Amino acid sequence: MEAKRRIVLVPVPAQGHVTPMMQLGKALYSEGFSITVVEGHFNQVSSSSQHFPGFQFVTIKESLPESEFERLGGIEFMIKLNKTSEASFKDCISQLLQQQGNDIACIIYDEFMYFCGAAAKEFKLPSVIFNSTSATNQVSRYVVGKLNAEKFLVDMEDPEMQDKVVENLYPLRYKDLPISEMGPLDRVFELCREVGNKRTASGVIINTVSCLESSSLSWLQQEVRIPVSPLGPLHMTASPPSSLLEEDRSCIEWLNKQKPRSVIYISVGTLGQMETKEVLEMAWGLCNSNQPFLWVIRAGSILGINGIDSLPDEFNKMVSERGYIVKRAPQIEVLGHPAVGGFWSHCGWNSTLESIGEGVPMICRPFHGEQKLNAMYIERVWRIGFQVEGKVDRGEVEKAVKRLIVDDEGAGMRERALVLKEKLKASVKNGGASYDALNELVKYLKTK
Ligand code: UDP
Repeated sequence: MEAKRRIVLVPVPAQGHVTPMMQLGKALYSEGFSITVVEGHFNQVSSSSQHFPGFQFVTIKESLPESEFERLGGIEFMIKLNKTSEASFKDCISQLLQQQGNDIACIIYDEFMYFCGAAAKEFKLPSVIFNSTSATNQVSRYVVGKLNAEKFLVDMEDPEMQDKVVENLYPLRYKDLPISEMGPLDRVFELCREVGNKRTASGVIINTVSCLESSSLSWLQQEVRIPVSPLGPLHMTASPPSSLLEEDRSCIEWLNKQKPRSVIYISVGTLGQMETKEVLEMAWGLCNSNQPFLWVIRAGSILGINGIDSLPDEFNKMVSERGYIVKRAPQIEVLGHPAVGGFWSHCGWNSTLESIGEGVPMICRPFHGEQKLNAMYIERVWRIGFQVEGKVDRGEVEKAVKRLIVDDEGAGMRERALVLKEKLKASVKNGGASYDALNELVKYLKTK
C-alpha cells in the first residue's frame, strides 16, 4: 500500500503559535508531504497564503466568535472553543478523507486544540501534539494538572512550600508555576489537565532544543510515555518564518547607521500591553542611557490609547534624539543585525529562541506565568540576561540598558549567548539533536 502523504495541521490562531507550526509545515512540505491547514474564522493563516505555496487551507464552521475572547477571558475561551469545535472538526476530517481518498497520514494539532483528539480517534488517524512553548512550561502544566486547586491554595500560604523546588527540577519552584493571574484556579487546573491528556496521540513535538532544557525534557519523556521530539528552534530549521502582519523594514536602514552592538531592541510581543505612564518612563530611561534604541510599539500595545500619536509631545522629542519606532519589525533580521547589542523582551518563547539563535543577551520583563518561566531560565540557567522587576522607572530602565550594553557583566552575558547560538546552530545541522529529531518524525510519518 502506498504511504499516505497528507498532513493536517491545526494551529491556535495567534501569531506566536502559528509561526512555529507553519515552519514545521514548510519543513514537512519540503520532505514531500502535502499540507492542509485547518483554521477557524479569525487570525487566518490563509490571509498570508502567498507565503505557503502548495498548502491547502480549510475553514471550519465558526464555533465561537473572537469577540467571546474579551468576554470570557483566555482560559474560559479555550475550554469552550474545544467543547464547541469537536463536531465541526469531525465533519471537516470526514470531508477531507472523502476528497483525498483517505490520504491523511497524520493530524498535527497545537496542544491547546485538543478537540482534534476525538476526530483522530473516531477516524483511527494517527495524531501528534505540537507545543509552541518550552519543555519546562509543559512540565509545569503537568505538575499543575495533578494538583488539587483548593489544597494548593492552602499549601501555598506556607512560604517554605512556595520556595520548594518542583520534583528536582531546579530552579523551578512551586511559586513559579505558571498559574497566577490567568483566571480562577480550578479552571486553570482544568485546562492544564485537558492539555496534559495526550488522548490517542502517538508523539509530542516541542519547539525547543535538548541542550537548552535537558532535565525538563527527560522529566517529560518519562511522564508522557510517548516519544517527545525536541526539534527546534523551527525558525532555524526551515526557510525564514513568514509573518501574518506587515513588517516595517525601514528600521534595517536605521540600524545600518548605528555602531556595532550599541542598539537596544525593545518588543513586548504580539499581545503585550503597557500603560502610558510606563511607556513614558521607558522613553526617559532609554534616552538617559545614551544608547540608541529600536522600539516596537503596536497599535494596541499602549493601554487606553491608539498608538503613539496620542502620546504627549515630550515622548516624540525624547524618541527623535536617538530612537526609532516601528509598529512591527522583522525581528529575526533585527536580532541578527550587527548593530543590536541587546533585547528588552517580554520573553515569549519564540522571542527567547530567536534571541538565543542570534546570540543576543536580554533584559527580561515578563507579563505572565509562562514568560516568567522563560525569564527565570534566561537569568538563572543560561545566564544570558536579567529581569527588571517592580514598577517601570526611568532610573531602573537606564541602569538596565547600561548594565547589558555597556558593562562587563553584559559582555559576559553576550559571550554565553554566543556560545548557545553556536550550540543551536549545530543542533539543527546534519547530525545535530534537533535535526535527528525532525528526521525521526519524518520517518515515522512516512510509515503511515
Ligand atoms: N514579532 C515580529 N516583529 C515584531 C514583534 C514580534 O516579527 O515587531 C514576532 C517575533 O519574531 C516572534 C513572535 O512575533 O516570532 C512573537 O512570539 P512570542 O512567542 O515571542 O510572543 P507572543 O507574541 O506569543 O507573546
